[in-house]
Amino acid sequence: MTLQTEAYERQLDEAKTFIEQYDRFLVVSHVHPDGDAISSTLTVGYLLHQLGKTYTLVNADPIPGKFSFLWGSDSIQRPQDLVSKEPFDYIIAVDCADYSRIGSAAERFSERAQILNIDHHPTNDHYGHCHLIRPEAAATAEVLYDLLKRFELKWGLDLAQCVYTGILTDTGGFRYANTSPRVMEIASELLSYGVNAHEMAEMLLEKRTLSHIKLLQKALATLSFSPDRKISWMVLSLEDLKSAGGSNEDVEGLVNYPRHIEGLVVGTLFREVDENEVKISLRSAGKVDVAHIAKCFNGGGHVRAAGATVKKPLEETIASVVDQVKQVLKG
Ligand code: 5GP
Ligand code: MN
Repeated sequence: MTLQTEAYERQLDEAKTFIEQYDRFLVVSHVHPDGDAISSTLTVGYLLHQLGKTYTLVNADPIPGKFSFLWGSDSIQRPQDLVSKEPFDYIIAVDCADYSRIGSAAERFSERAQILNIDHHPTNDHYGHCHLIRPEAAATAEVLYDLLKRFELKWGLDLAQCVYTGILTDTGGFRYANTSPRVMEIASELLSYGVNAHEMAEMLLEKRTLSHIKLLQKALATLSFSPDRKISWMVLSLEDLKSAGGSNEDVEGLVNYPRHIEGLVVGTLFREVDENEVKISLRSAGKVDVAHIAKCFNGGGHVRAAGATVKKPLEETIASVVDQVKQVLKG
């Protein structure tokens, strides 16, 4: 066994012990949850349910409607809606690279809270007390698959759909560079439990809301390029979001469109979330590490997909981010 696998095996053991020895867990993930965040929250919920533990699933932001078919999806609550005001001592944070990305859900942690941090982001800063972090994994759902295999669980469609969701969405439908032989093996096993690959892809990747298409129209109208056409960016203002009637889930995926342009190196989407606050999304065609660029703005993510939130006006943010990307390309 290599040192790396040994370390991972040890982390899996420690995570299992954490779950077995405690009770009354709060399961959290990142703000604006994506498929892997939701998938991982529900997968941990399923495990705790099977183990007869008490637990609460929470997310700072609402769960997009397209995930409502998943087991337990209606049990993920907003922090402000929790009936029990008693703070939680045992936290399981999934798919969340840094503490601040937990958002308002962290207000429910007690002062002596113990955090089990389960993730696959290379930029994870190891907040928490027990770590199960595997940057080689395509999704947090893949890490959870390994963890679930350490428990005596009966696998069925409900659980398989939860795990499959994170793997499907974080690999962009088995197309991104993280689509490993292992990913395909796991997906194949999940299909054997009755997951319908075609239906899942249609529901989670292909179906779009009308607001998404309207936002795409607005974003493409702002598509700009650096003189060498290696960098592109699109902008969505608060006004655009309001007029398209869109919510966070309708914005997801827009940043991917320019990435498909031939010769493009970095694509960026700037989205105004408040008067002096901009959410940036960065996508790389593969040559440049955009997590490194996002880190310059206190964000993070992966080599090919990263993001950050900048507390500055829109125009100023666009200028400084585009400038930073240009510097990186020059170097
Ligand atoms: P997206 O651009 O789709 O919001 O995010 C792409 C990737 O970057 C995701 O893996 C996400 O975890 C990460 N990411 C996005 N925004 C932030 C941020 O503000 N901070 C950190 N640390 N990571 C982010
Ligand atoms: Mn993920």
